[in-house]
Amino acid sequence: MSEEIIDIAIIGGGPGGLSAGIYASRGGKDTTLFELGVPGGQIVDSSEIENYPGYLEVMSGYDLMKDWPAQAKKFGMKTQMSEVKSITKNGDYFDLELSSNQSAKAKTVILATGSTPKRCGVDGEDVFFGKGVSTCATCDGFFYKGKEVAVLGGGDTALEEAVFLSNICSKVHLIHRRDEFRAAPITINQAKSKDNINFILDSKVNSINGNDKDGVTSLSIENIKNGDKSTLEVPVVFVFVGRNVLNKPIQTNDNKFICDTNDSGEVVVDLSMKTSLDGLWAIGDVRVDAPKQVVCAAGDGAAAAIDAINFINSKG
Ligand code: FAD
Ligand code: NAP
Repeated sequence: MSEEIIDIAIIGGGPGGLSAGIYASRGGKDTTLFELGVPGGQIVDSSEIENYPGYLEVMSGYDLMKDWPAQAKKFGMKTQMSEVKSITKNGDYFDLELSSNQSAKAKTVILATGSTPKRCGVDGEDVFFGKGVSTCATCDGFFYKGKEVAVLGGGDTALEEAVFLSNICSKVHLIHRRDEFRAAPITINQAKSKDNINFILDSKVNSINGNDKDGVTSLSIENIKNGDKSTLEVPVVFVFVGRNVLNKPIQTNDNKFICDTNDSGEVVVDLSMKTSLDGLWAIGDVRVDAPKQVVCAAGDGAAAAIDAINFINSKG
């Protein structure tokens, strides 16, 4: 029996991939979305989203995303719960190497793998990951109800999640290496208006301390400007120091990429999200100059799917 050839293979089931799936399947193409975990993407970890157009109420990331897979399925998109390990182009087709020694073949591929939280690189971070070091306040915040907790970082995620935690925990110590934030002004104001958020600025964490029995017990902190050292006793630190793009599927064995990327490994695309390799598109957080917003990832998905449909039709 000959192997099925998928018209449009989508790698990643976040807002980008699911939006591409809705457009590709509704556009009449045989579409399969590959997702290594549960579809929804990184926004599912977010406690609150209030800037997705069309919704007046603040909602959780989970609530925003919960119906997107069903909408795509309604138009015929198939979902396969597999990690795509590598993509190679052989002649006119792409070969996808999947987890569990499986494979797939496709005419076109839309890469929508997004990004993953960065580690801060501090001593103790790896030892206590999952035992008092967390990158998800929605998932782990409740375990620290009524307790003092620490948040590391000064971007949108750190400040938003500090506000979320301030409603559960008795006190949130927000540690940032500068005295200015990257977050949006509205988010900074929300965090500053909270009595139980304590800002520890111009400071770095030198080590995350603890033991086997209790997990994290304290953080060793140093003020970068005056060198003052202190110990903060907390059972958890939420690390929100940015994200790395997930571009492993397009890496080759000699650490190169099958298409053009920039120095950070973000995929270079044009306005249709087309990459330098014919038949391959990249969308959402994994592409260059991504605004890193749900609405933008979704828009990218639509643009790429429309272009991929035209590409397949043009081949006859
Ligand atoms: P992702 O959402 O990262 O989805 C990628 C998917 O691909 C994942 O499901 C992943 O499991 C899968 N995947 C990765 N590699 C593979 C592989 N090899 N094989 C198969 N599957 C794979 N944006 C806003 O607009 N408003 C907000 O309020 C907001 N708040 C945020 C709060 C937090 C805590 C975070 C972390 C982000 C927030 N963002 C927000 C940003 C937003 O979530 C992202 O910009 C958006 O999710 C990017 O979508 P994406 O589809 O490109 O990638
Ligand atoms: P980010 O914007 O890259 O911010 C990372 C923060 O961590 C910065 O403040 C940075 O400090 C700090 N940092 C980096 N490395 C560090 C280290 N090793 N030790 C200590 N601190 C470190 O990341 P993000 O907040 O996760 O946001 C990612 C993207 O998603 C952004 O584009 C953001 O706008 C978007 N996002 C949007 C929303 C929203 O629209 N509501 C919500 C969440 C995220 P410096 O500032 O000194 O560099």
